[in-house]
Amino acid sequence: MTDPRRPDGASETSRTSRGVSMRAMILDVPGRPLRLASLERPTPGPGELLLRIRACGVCRTDLHLIDGELPKPKLPVIPGHEIVAEVAGHGAGVSGPPLGQRVGVPWLGGSCGHCSWCADGRENLCPDASFTGYQRDGGYADYAVADAAYCFALPTKYSDVDAAPLLCAGLIGYRAYRHAGNASKLGIYGFGAAAHLIAQVAIAQGRRVMAFTRPGDRDAQAFARELGAAWAVGSDEAPPEPLDAALLFAPVGSLVPAALAAVKPGGTVVCAGIHMSDIPAFPYRLLWGERCVRSVANLTRRDAKEFLALAGKVALAVHARTYPLVDANRALGDLRDGRIAGAAVLTMEH
Ligand SMILES: [Zn+2]
Ligand SMILES: [Zn+2]
Repeated sequence: MTDPRRPDGASETSRTSRGVSMRAMILDVPGRPLRLASLERPTPGPGELLLRIRACGVCRTDLHLIDGELPKPKLPVIPGHEIVAEVAGHGAGVSGPPLGQRVGVPWLGGSCGHCSWCADGRENLCPDASFTGYQRDGGYADYAVADAAYCFALPTKYSDVDAAPLLCAGLIGYRAYRHAGNASKLGIYGFGAAAHLIAQVAIAQGRRVMAFTRPGDRDAQAFARELGAAWAVGSDEAPPEPLDAALLFAPVGSLVPAALAAVKPGGTVVCAGIHMSDIPAFPYRLLWGERCVRSVANLTRRDAKEFLALAGKVALAVHARTYPLVDANRALGDLRDGRIAGAAVLTMEH
């Protein structure tokens, strides 16, 4: 619905936001640290919401973006695709959610709506999809605009900080988990933000979780056990019993043959990251027995709705370390060096 008070449909809030500045952490060129800048607050276009950001998660994908491992980013770009925000204005043609309502914005920021993938519910594979904090400016800022059709209500039981990691770690983790089918013994390689959430979902659904961390990372192993993993060791070790499926959240290609060696015949290895180092050659016998290796790419809106509904029912203990927006580079450094148990989240403190 357009705002009847304005011939162009833009709301009062979007009009008055023009010319007002905001803080943002910007990537100018891959390979450089983010730069704190003062930018004009964005104006929502048709179909978009203006969002006042309260918190934004820091994801490993942001490291891949900064390292130049993702092709053709919008540059300069504001990273961040785990946005928790309140609605602060409506673009033309949008009447809700109401001002002040809390919403979340994930990685998938838009899709074409008419290609063959969009038409059959696989909008995550749309060749014209646009991604938050990569091809659209994201959440390392005080304000952002987002396509209203790709913003989601968040379960009220989670604080802004705790809700942020649900939007990528949770969602992409959930999509990976869905592709593990009904595995009762589930291996998880790389015990960071996604793993710590999806392990809890798996355990709540009666599965047995075995966690594999960087070899020697006793803290991560203790963290996995604390969250209910039946077993946690370095990724250079074999599990005590064969796995039904394995989820790979670590971007390390050599884990693919390791995980294949650990799954039973008929088992699936799901690679959940957007980028991974090269997978080394491995003997065919590791794949033999109808084992399957697959990736999951991005997410669909259905994934978001399903996972957020699930997160509203299961009490997920979200472990998040917070940083002020201006300390985004420090948060990214801590994530890169494996110093974060769970997730890192930026807070805007307006
Ligand atoms: Zn992410
Ligand atoms: Zn499409």
